[in-house]
Amino acid sequence: MDREELLSHYEWSAGVCFRHPAAGEVATAVIKILYPKDGGREVVRACQDCVIDMEAQRRDAALEGGFSYRPGRVGQDLRRG
Ligand SMILES: [Zn+2]
Repeated sequence: MDREELLSHYEWSAGVCFRHPAAGEVATAVIKILYPKDGGREVVRACQDCVIDMEAQRRDAALEGGFSYRPGRVGQDLRRG
């Protein structure tokens, strides 16, 4: 699976990556929405490098655990955890 194909599973818009806030606004995908106890809504975004990185980790974990790997589900996995 190449990088472009992986990235095509996500919707991209300008935002700040949760791992790289110093980089400022870059192309990001929403990977998680948090609802803090004190109200409000916090959107967690990741840049393309981070999404590729997280997909690689999911793929490795799936291979180790004997699960099937499907790209484009970084957000779903995070929500479950
Ligand atoms: Zn990043």
